[in-house]
Amino acid sequence: MTKYDVVIIGAGPIGSYTAYLLADKGFAVCLLDEKAEIGKDVICAGVIGKEAFKRFDLPGKSILSRIDSATFISPSKTKLEYNPKEVFAYIVDREIFDRGILKSAQRVGVDLHLKQRVTNIGKKSSGFYTLLTKKRKYRARVVVLATGIDYVLNKKAGLGKPAQFLYGSQIELPISFSKSNVEIHIGTSFAPGSFGWVIPAGANISRIGILLNRKTKPWLKKMLEHRLNISVAKLPDEELKTKPIAFGPIKRSVKDNILAVGEAAGQIKTTTGGGIFFGLLCSEIAVEKITNTLRNSASLSDYETTWRSILASDLDIGIALRKTAAKLSDEDIEKLFRFVKKNRFWVNSLMPRINFDYHSNVVFFCIKSFGALLKLEE
Ligand SMILES: Cc1cc2nc3c(=O)[nH]c(=O)nc-3n(C[C@H](O)[C@H](O)[C@H](O)COP(=O)(O)OP(=O)(O)OC[C@H]3O[C@@H](n4cnc5c(N)ncnc54)[C@H](O)[C@@H]3O)c2cc1C
Repeated sequence: MTKYDVVIIGAGPIGSYTAYLLADKGFAVCLLDEKAEIGKDVICAGVIGKEAFKRFDLPGKSILSRIDSATFISPSKTKLEYNPKEVFAYIVDREIFDRGILKSAQRVGVDLHLKQRVTNIGKKSSGFYTLLTKKRKYRARVVVLATGIDYVLNKKAGLGKPAQFLYGSQIELPISFSKSNVEIHIGTSFAPGSFGWVIPAGANISRIGILLNRKTKPWLKKMLEHRLNISVAKLPDEELKTKPIAFGPIKRSVKDNILAVGEAAGQIKTTTGGGIFFGLLCSEIAVEKITNTLRNSASLSDYETTWRSILASDLDIGIALRKTAAKLSDEDIEKLFRFVKKNRFWVNSLMPRINFDYHSNVVFFCIKSFGALLKLEE
């Protein structure tokens, strides 16, 4: 049984990135995953802001498309174009992305053990936790849960799970809509209270999906057939992939020397369901606090207050936005589109508030303006 400074459970992008940063600082790090192969069959649209690639050490090889515009399309197909005239996001291949981060981690000395599902974390004794898999035991001074939407260990460690979930469904099809434009489709007949997307994922491939607060497959079929005129009858059902997404953070993300990061902590944008940017950001915070714990015996509890102070307003505003959006009829949505089209002045005030990764500023501004508008037009 080997002793480690840190054992990280989950070799998704956030677990691997955390492992990479810690090993790079000289700590003995072990990364465990129940999967045999990392990055296989990941369900994700793969949209990552350009800033994330600047700020974090991410695998550029994984980029399939560069996004320089977005088109918002109303129920009656009125279009609003967002065209900042420069690339603002990338679409990645998650298999190459996840494996690229993992390779960086292994390069700096992380021990990777695949096909190891951790089933229990024993009480700390002599400064070490014991982690159990079917065949092995691991000992660690600090344990990081980066287990995505699997909250079994969170519960065992006393960290709980998100109160709510969204559901994402997506299919990848050999159709080309655009090379560098993302379409956001809005309408209650296929995405009530939410939105659907069409995203270019390399040459002649599009990712088409929706995000809802209910089971999504039937709704994705509606979007494909009625919105995009794509016949569903010929598509194999298993190609329409579905996965829950944490909606809102867990109540407690650290206890003694065990912490949760990434989707395991509910660090997911409540507006779009994107988890990579917030996860990486919190991974950096976790690494800073773990370093302080291992080197100076400081408490890890600071981790909780630090990430919440940075993300709280963004997590809250997305929840408020979804509540408002759930009440909108198609006619309300058309009114908003008409308003935006007519009001150049309003659009000019909105533009500087747009940030790909932080949405509270822009959403607050929209909710305030639209609330007044909907009342005005009644
Ligand atoms: C349809 C859809 C579209 C999305 N689109 C985007 C997008 O465009 N941009 C974006 O940023 N995000 C997107 N997301 C969200 C994004 O995919 C997740 O936020 C991200 O994968 C979370 O990373 P993670 O490392 O926290 O967890 P994961 O990637 O889920 O990794 C968790 C790992 O833990 C392992 N594991 C779990 N339990 C155990 C255990 N007990 N023992 C050992 N191993 C264990 C799992 O095998 C897995 O490998 C989307 C999600 C969905 C469903």
